[in-house]
Amino acid sequence: MTATRRQTVFAGLDPPEAWPPPPRALRPDRLELGLETLPGVGPTIQRKLAKLGLSTVRDVLEHRPRRYETAADEVSIAALRQGEEVVIAGRVIKVEKKPMRSRRTRIVARVDDGSASVSVTWFNQPWLADKLVPGTQIRLRGKLGRFGFEPRSYDLGETRATADFAPVYPAAEEIAAATVRKVVDAALPLAVDVADPLPAELREREGLALKRDALAAVHRPRDLDEAEEGRRRLAFEELLVLQIGIARRVAERERTLAPGLGEPGELIHRYRKALPFALTPYQEQAIREIDGDLGRTVPMQRLLQGDVGSGKTVVALYALLRAVENGRQGALMAPTETLAEQHFLTVADLCLELGVSCALLTSSSKKAERERALHADVVVGTHALIQSGVELRDLAVAVVDEQHRFGVEQRSAIASGRAPHVLHMTATPIPRTLALTVYGDLAVSEIAKPPASRKPVITSWITEERASEAYTRLTRLLREGRQAYVVCPLIEMSETSLARAAEAEAERLRRAELKDFRVGCVHGRLKTPERRELMARFKASELDVLVATTVIEVGVDVANATVMIVQEADRFGLAQLHQLRGRVGRGAEQSYCLLVSRAKEELTESAHARLEALVETSDGFELAEVDLELRGGGALLGTRQSGLSDLRFAHLRRDRDLLERARAAAPSVGAGPLYDVAEALFADVEREALA
Ligand code: ADP
Ligand code: MG
Repeated sequence: MTATRRQTVFAGLDPPEAWPPPPRALRPDRLELGLETLPGVGPTIQRKLAKLGLSTVRDVLEHRPRRYETAADEVSIAALRQGEEVVIAGRVIKVEKKPMRSRRTRIVARVDDGSASVSVTWFNQPWLADKLVPGTQIRLRGKLGRFGFEPRSYDLGETRATADFAPVYPAAEEIAAATVRKVVDAALPLAVDVADPLPAELREREGLALKRDALAAVHRPRDLDEAEEGRRRLAFEELLVLQIGIARRVAERERTLAPGLGEPGELIHRYRKALPFALTPYQEQAIREIDGDLGRTVPMQRLLQGDVGSGKTVVALYALLRAVENGRQGALMAPTETLAEQHFLTVADLCLELGVSCALLTSSSKKAERERALHADVVVGTHALIQSGVELRDLAVAVVDEQHRFGVEQRSAIASGRAPHVLHMTATPIPRTLALTVYGDLAVSEIAKPPASRKPVITSWITEERASEAYTRLTRLLREGRQAYVVCPLIEMSETSLARAAEAEAERLRRAELKDFRVGCVHGRLKTPERRELMARFKASELDVLVATTVIEVGVDVANATVMIVQEADRFGLAQLHQLRGRVGRGAEQSYCLLVSRAKEELTESAHARLEALVETSDGFELAEVDLELRGGGALLGTRQSGLSDLRFAHLRRDRDLLERARAAAPSVGAGPLYDVAEALFADVEREALA
């Protein structure tokens, strides 16, 4: 079905041969000039802007205001009332920096306007301490709350952004909002005589403004409607570029040859019989779709989507065995060695039973071992290893687990006109809007429901001071013979310090809460054999508790492990917590996930929302939607690799209509600057993914 749609949508595309040669210089215009060329920008400001990722005129123009400040009433401090958003202005009379637990800071300033004084609290902006010297004139916009006056924005000295209608740019350390605004003002005129990247005919058809007008509207709107209209014009262009890139991929793939694998045969028949359970209707449907792809001589590019524990691995092995029964190889690629090992453990037994050779390829594999592995029927390893292992005898099907998609297309294979079938597996549910962009050229199979025996994990959220309750529950379950995970806080430090922290925590638990139990500790610093052994012991119930860093995030499969404690859960991202939680609830027993966070008033709004969402639902799609709302598309897919971090103006949820329009318009756009941009963007993304 997707194939048909694709053909209709992209029917108007010129074949890639007809496309222009790679760009000489990308839109070699004034927008690429460095910021030092702007009046009023000296080395200091330039350096500060660079910290925000702004180094050219274009960067500044594409620095989207986060929101627009409209007028709010200015009141005297004496007249402040709880909860109402207002502006106050006065002098700083005292500043205190209050340390808080766990590397957070609180700055409290006393501000007096003659009528009265009020405490103003900022969280996590330590640099403010040096700016708020007593005597400083300050203007604040915010409201009176639990921590005194809680500012949403502020101006020091004479500048005025807090009360008047003005763009508010993403918060920046060390650089005043007013300065950013001045730089934008200086940059705007340079956009005036730059050729518009959208073809005039398309602009007319879609009723779109010139880019320069849209930029002006976004940065200097007269009202919010104007700003929104400008944003949508810029968003459309961004989405169009993505869609052009996607169309390109599709066209390229359609010209590539893959081995046609015919109909399932005897090996598949035995595989089905060897499984200790019947496949669910969703798994069967996915398999039918995969069979359809494998029968063609164009490489499969399919996304197999299903929540953790939904049974994707069984389907993946099916695809691999389809290669094997055709006398060719299948490869299963995982993002980390731990995961590769886990997959290997899952897959190896079944392979053995079926008389299929299966080998694990790790960075510690010796040369001879490696040679042998490369000739196995099914090879399991990390993306990096298998990708560099071009020596794979005869790869016909590659299954790629949890990897953002761009790394895996084996460019050299495609360039040579041949490529394997690729099945991408992900447990990160991808909202429809994202599916149309990043995954726009993939067909999607979805395992919407896990095997029926599964009970949803019961999730609770408690704060640190009640952490002992979590351990009480944990030890009760351990006494009943269950096993558990304790996930250590995610600290922004090196792998080594993470490992050290995990070891220390395991040691502490062995002496305190878990002294009656056998506690192991896994982290990224363990040597492969050590880690493998620990995992195996846990699986064999020789350990009761596994203290771990996020290395257990995906793939670990121990049905008897029914409880998980996540320490400082507020530090984790939503998707990550959902993944972690997926390590429990894999058997028929009721499972529990206990999220321990820091005190509620120390949490950011978004951390609060994340934890609440996790307690409320275990539906991955719902959580993905929440995440998309909280963080935006680029962040959701993690990195640069998504190509989405390049979306500055588009909101994937809000702009669904624009996305569909861009998708429809992409085929009709002829050669021109947009192609160059799409080409450069995708080349960039791919280069980075392969690095
Ligand atoms: P995923 O890879 O989607 O996280 P897995 O494939 O690892 O999920 O499956 C999770 C667990 O469910 C495994 O222990 C697996 O053996 C089991 N399982 C898979 N499919 C079925 C099924 N149809 N019926 C019962 N159990 C299943
Ligand atoms: Mg799995």
